[in-house]
Amino acid sequence: MALTFKHLFRKNITTQYPEKRLQMSRRIRGQQFVWRSDLCTGCATCAKSCPHGIIQIVTSKNGDNKYVMDKMEFDTGRCMFCGLCVEVCPFNALYMGRSYEQARYSRRLLWADKEILMSPDNEPSAYGHPELEGQIPEQTLLVYGQISKEMTAKDDN
Ligand code: SF4
Ligand code: SF4
Repeated sequence: MALTFKHLFRKNITTQYPEKRLQMSRRIRGQQFVWRSDLCTGCATCAKSCPHGIIQIVTSKNGDNKYVMDKMEFDTGRCMFCGLCVEVCPFNALYMGRSYEQARYSRRLLWADKEILMSPDNEPSAYGHPELEGQIPEQTLLVYGQISKEMTAKDDN
């Protein structure tokens, strides 16, 4: 009973999702990818490293004997978000995204093509890219006191 009473009178440490959202880890492996086409060489290392084989790349050669990415697509409906593709990219062209709300009504809509991968709305995670950590807000911790303070600050904005 002592334990029950202790929890009965303490402040809530839960949040009313989706009205309120916690700040996720800076290194979150979210359910999306961010692709920098300007850095990508079309080497396909990411596609070869994917254990599920869900990255489709089609390239052609341009006049400078370089690859042009005609197709770059992820079937995120089959992705386990292990992050291997991001870790192996030799040119820092691929990032995990920070979004964790990618539910769709159809599996077909879970395919991420070039436009989706390059969308300016995608926020890159610092997973595999520690150089980004300074630019990303700190995680909200589920610790009594801190959470109420941070969520109150968000409510005020
Ligand atoms: S996160 Fe893992 S499963 Fe998903 S595309 Fe990358 S390597 Fe494949
Ligand atoms: S490993 Fe990186 S550079 Fe190579 S194709 Fe994939 S995203 Fe592009």
